Amino acid sequence: MSDTPVLRVSDVRKRFGGHVVLDGFSLDVHEGEVVTVIGPSGSGKSTLVRCVHQLEGIDGGAMYLDGELLGYEIQRGHLRPLPDRRVAAQRGRMGMVFQQFNLFPHWNVLRNVTEAQVLVHRRAPQEAREEALRLLARVGLAGKADAYPRMLSGGQQQRVAIARALATHPRIMLFDEPTSALDPELVGEVLSVMHDLAHGGMTMIIVTHEMSFAREVADRCVFMEEGRVIETGAPEEFFDEPVSPRLRAFLSRFS
Ligand code: ADP
Ligand code: MG
Repeated sequence: MSDTPVLRVSDVRKRFGGHVVLDGFSLDVHEGEVVTVIGPSGSGKSTLVRCVHQLEGIDGGAMYLDGELLGYEIQRGHLRPLPDRRVAAQRGRMGMVFQQFNLFPHWNVLRNVTEAQVLVHRRAPQEAREEALRLLARVGLAGKADAYPRMLSGGQQQRVAIARALATHPRIMLFDEPTSALDPELVGEVLSVMHDLAHGGMTMIIVTHEMSFAREVADRCVFMEEGRVIETGAPEEFFDEPVSPRLRAFLSRFS
C-alpha cells in the first residue's frame, strides 16, 4: 500500500460570510479505508464533503487526491484556480451520494447511471450501458433500468444514486447522510449496499447518524464540532471509551 493517502484534507478553512464553518479541518483517508464522520447538526459535515467534491470553494488550507492538489495549480510560483474542465475531471475521480438522491427525474434509471460515464469519462455508450447494468445488479436493482425515479421507493432511488456514483470508478466515495431522508424500513437496504462496498475495499467517507452502522463499518471514526475534529479513533475506543466530554455528551443522546 502506498503512503500517499487517497485523500488528504489539510487545515481547510471555509467561511460563509462572517461564519466560520470549517476551522482548520484535517483528515487523511488511505486506500481501502472507511472513515465515518459524526457530529451535531450545523457542525460542518455537509460543507466538508461538498468542499472535497469541489461543490464549494475553500478559503484556506489544501486538499489532495492521490497527492494531486485539488482545485488549484501552481504556475510560476503562484496558486491559480484550475479551469472548470480540470475541476470537473478531478470531481469525476470521486463519487458523491447526497441525502436527497439528486437523480434526474426526467431520465430513466439507465440514463441516470450512464450519463456521466459518457459525458465526463467519454466511455462508449454500449460499454457505459453494460457497466450500468452490472452496477444495478450489484445494488439489487437488476430489472429497474427502464424505470423513472418517481416509480421507485426512496431506498431504491438511493441505490441508483450509489450505482451512478460507482459507475465512473471513483477513487473515493463520499456519502452525506445517505439514509437520513428514508423511511425507517428502507434504511437497511441502503446500508447493506454500503456494507458490501466497504468489504469490497472501497475507500469511503461516510457522514451518518446511524451509530451502529458507523461502528460496524468504520476503520476510523471522526467526531466533528464547530468545523473541527474533536476526536478520532478506531470504532471500539471511539464509541466505548470516548475521551472528550463533547463526544461523550453527543453519544449519550443516541444510547
Ligand atoms: P452539517 O452538515 O454538519 O449539519 P453544514 O455543513 O450543512 O452542517 O452547515 C454548517 C454551517 O454552515 C451551518 O451553520 C449552515 O447554516 C452553514 N451553511 C451551510 N451552507 C451554507 C451556505 N451555502 N450559505 C451560508 N451558510 C451555509
Ligand atoms: Mg449535513
